Amino acid sequence: MQEHDTRLTQLDHRATHLPESAELAEVEARLRRSRDEVVAAETIASDLEDEQKRADRDVEQVRERRARDQELLDSGSIGDPKQLQSIQAELENLVRRQTDLEDVELEIMERVEGARAAVAQLTVERDEHAAQQESLAATVQAKLSEIAEERRGVEAERQEIAAGVAPELLALYDKIRGEHGGVGAAPLHRGACQGCRLTLPPTELEELRAAPADEVVRCEECRRILVRTPESGL
Ligand SMILES: [Zn+2]
Repeated sequence: MQEHDTRLTQLDHRATHLPESAELAEVEARLRRSRDEVVAAETIASDLEDEQKRADRDVEQVRERRARDQELLDSGSIGDPKQLQSIQAELENLVRRQTDLEDVELEIMERVEGARAAVAQLTVERDEHAAQQESLAATVQAKLSEIAEERRGVEAERQEIAAGVAPELLALYDKIRGEHGGVGAAPLHRGACQGCRLTLPPTELEELRAAPADEVVRCEECRRILVRTPESGL
């Protein structure tokens, strides 16, 4: 029964210490970072797109004003030379202004392109991390199911063994197990308790030798139940 209990403890430890679980936690952290990066990049890109729209509008306004001035000039309705001169000066001004604004517009367009490329790149990375996470999660799940199945088998065998043990002995075993790191019973091997690894003094071995086979004997040192075997050295 101790062997079964030890096995159950090992299985539980394996289930909570899967290397894939640690890896999964890392991948999940990477995925969270990746998602945040995509959101941040998208914000930058959409802010730049707003900026681009404003730049487009600025260029458009100057263009309209130029058209209006040009129309006014072409209509021939202005006879005053001073006024004509002033409109021509404004037109020249507007041409320069339009060029400047178009440069700004172009620069923002390039930045939008860069930002969009960054979003695309980060999205690819995020999707890769998501796929990794999904695959690892499936692996962890499969391993846990495997352990759970093995555990059910060991547990069933343990129940069967427990059914054949006297209730008082079972209670004693469980009590010691609870107090001594999950080990309630240990074999006596060549005169040494395998629970605490101490070699029993000759007088105690003498007593064990004399004890009836069905008597529950315990280690003097650690108080665990001693299981006598042909290798006990008695
Ligand atoms: Zn002992």
